[in-house]
Amino acid sequence: MSQTLAFFKKEKRFKEPYDILLDGSFINWLLLNKRNRHHIAKALCGGNFHLVTTRCATQLQNDFKIHETKALKDLHISHVSCSHKKKMSAVDCILSKVKDGNPDGFFVATEDKQFVSHLQEFYLVPTITCFGKGMVLRKPSDYQKEALANEDVRENARGLRVGRRGLGPV
Ligand SMILES: [Zn+2]
Repeated sequence: MSQTLAFFKKEKRFKEPYDILLDGSFINWLLLNKRNRHHIAKALCGGNFHLVTTRCATQLQNDFKIHETKALKDLHISHVSCSHKKKMSAVDCILSKVKDGNPDGFFVATEDKQFVSHLQEFYLVPTITCFGKGMVLRKPSDYQKEALANEDVRENARGLRVGRRGLGPV
């Protein structure tokens, strides 16, 4: 297992099988470069995973529809619901899935480097991105390290408060 995966795996929400949320750009990249689940497994360095996407996240590429059926079938990508009746941008839709500490433990795979930076700067999300014909699970950012450490502190504090409440009025 890679150090990066080991780091995230310490948190309960990132458990196997991991849900890797792909946007349309990443799915297109996989198809164009003939990359498959085997390559994703290699980038993760261990562990079982599901590949998922949302309707909003796959709408952006005009040529995507041509590939969609093939991609979903070949790569075993399933849809997770996102409850956006009116479709929103892939970025906004994905952010809505991972906000508030990413409780469902999604990994996000995207070709959009700016989006990766944004996720790493503000969200607790392991990210997979591509370079040339390769892909990589990005190391946790300073923000992510700090956020998880602070979360542990908050958890402990909550535990203490619950304990005290049991003893009488706070
Ligand atoms: Zn959506």
